Amino acid sequence: MDYKELADLIFPNAKDIEYYEEKYPERNLPEGAMVTRFAPSPTGFVHIGGLFGAIVDRKLAEQTKGVFILRIEDTDQKREIERGTEQIVEGLQNFGIIPDEGMISEDGEKGIYGPYKQSQRKDIYQAYAKSLIEKGLAYPCFCTTEELEEIREKQEKAKIRPGYYGVWAKYRNLPIVEAAEKIKNGEKYIVRFKSHGNEERKIKHKDIIKGNIEFPENDQDIVIIKADGLPTYHFAHAVDDHLMRVTHVIRGDEWVSSIPLHLELFKALGFKPPKYAHTATIMKEDNGGKRKISKRKDPEAAVSYYHEEGIPQEAVVEYLLNIANSNFEPWRRANKDLDISEFELQLNKLSVSGAVFDMVKLLDVSKNVISKFTAEKIYDETLKWAKQYDTELMKLLEENKEYSIRVLNIERGNVKPRKDIAKWSEVKNSIEYMYDEIFKNNKEYEFQKITDKEEIKNILSKYIEKHFDINDDKQTWFNKMKDLAEEMGYAREVKEYKQEPDKYKGHVGDISTVIRVALTGRCNTPDLYEIMQILGKERIYSRMNNLIQ
Ligand code: GLU
Repeated sequence: MDYKELADLIFPNAKDIEYYEEKYPERNLPEGAMVTRFAPSPTGFVHIGGLFGAIVDRKLAEQTKGVFILRIEDTDQKREIERGTEQIVEGLQNFGIIPDEGMISEDGEKGIYGPYKQSQRKDIYQAYAKSLIEKGLAYPCFCTTEELEEIREKQEKAKIRPGYYGVWAKYRNLPIVEAAEKIKNGEKYIVRFKSHGNEERKIKHKDIIKGNIEFPENDQDIVIIKADGLPTYHFAHAVDDHLMRVTHVIRGDEWVSSIPLHLELFKALGFKPPKYAHTATIMKEDNGGKRKISKRKDPEAAVSYYHEEGIPQEAVVEYLLNIANSNFEPWRRANKDLDISEFELQLNKLSVSGAVFDMVKLLDVSKNVISKFTAEKIYDETLKWAKQYDTELMKLLEENKEYSIRVLNIERGNVKPRKDIAKWSEVKNSIEYMYDEIFKNNKEYEFQKITDKEEIKNILSKYIEKHFDINDDKQTWFNKMKDLAEEMGYAREVKEYKQEPDKYKGHVGDISTVIRVALTGRCNTPDLYEIMQILGKERIYSRMNNLIQ
């Protein structure tokens, strides 16, 4: 009996690997094109770090006229949830990330290098596992859980490195005939890689982000095919990234220590390894220190959070590029109005140590991003958000489309647009006073300096009787405000008041504040003249009269 016969016994139906090599040929892409992939487990959860990786993958493929693949790694079927793939597809879509190849819905996929869900690639992995057995580079292992436990205990007692390697690899040197006998007797087994590495030797490797790294060689006989016939991550990584003709593996740096193993696997399989770029984990400030951003403790670790809050995808993407790539900030300063797609991402400029996530900064970026949107876009995006998260707002916007766009257009589209909105969930509060339907419920008036009821009444009455005319242009409107101030004993200009504060009751700003508060309930709003133009004569009268009474 030889290796070939043993391999046939274990995987009788596996195809020859030549079949797959031909089925998934080298890609015909322009020089320098990068083939990247995002490869999450279908847990339904997209972590902010995962999104970051996907943005990088998507961007690099785009920049180089390459291909970006979405592959689902569902070989650990315990961790799977229902519709987990679909949720990932949608989670990415919400940030404008659409794969060129791979999964596009729960079960739908596109591309000729698939299937793109690992659980459907069982035959492929088995074919390659078989080829390793044939070469004596993999073998069946019959260890029971108890046996493995026993090995571990012995190692612990003797204070030596744990694992299944060298003399500890119990079935590594089991004669082929005996292995075949056990299999024929129906004993349970898994398939292990037969490592030829030596812990004492070092391997050198150049990571695109981390630079030169050095690790001891791998000597562990890791599992490649589990009892359920599915591969482990390591083996699937080698087979898939080879057959999908991936050129650049960009993944979290929790995998960097697996480099010796992965390089060894690629070599044993006769594959050319991809280039690796290990990205640093996103951190969070905590009690003066830094820690990894955590799914359990931080709501912002889940990308669904940004969707729920209504933080626009453009802002999140811009912010992530900002913290990831030192080139980004100077680029943005020099190109204030360029679309983010014009930014050329350089993989080797990604931060080596974990960037710290700062929500305040993100919201700041978001305010800037939104300030450049047209009122129409803000309307559309807010409506889209409201349809999912705020029915009252949705109705309001749908029933008053033209009007709402005018409202959202206040102080927008000029050289210094307003920057008060950071997320769609803030829009309602920032415009509610423009809608009678919800303004009526608002009885809190934020009067500021002038709080005396009689004085307020006088100011409003005089304004309505003598000065208010909806047809006035802005300059006339403002001059009349000054006239009113003067009549009531307030300075026409703030400057005059400051020079002789004893001479006046206040200044024109105090007067306009009374009018602003009467109309909106608030002392801070965007341009009052524009607000009044949109409210119109009737509503101005009615709101002021309401207050007077
Ligand atoms: N499924 C692996 C993970 O979610 C993928 C790592 C990789 O990109 O290779 O961590």
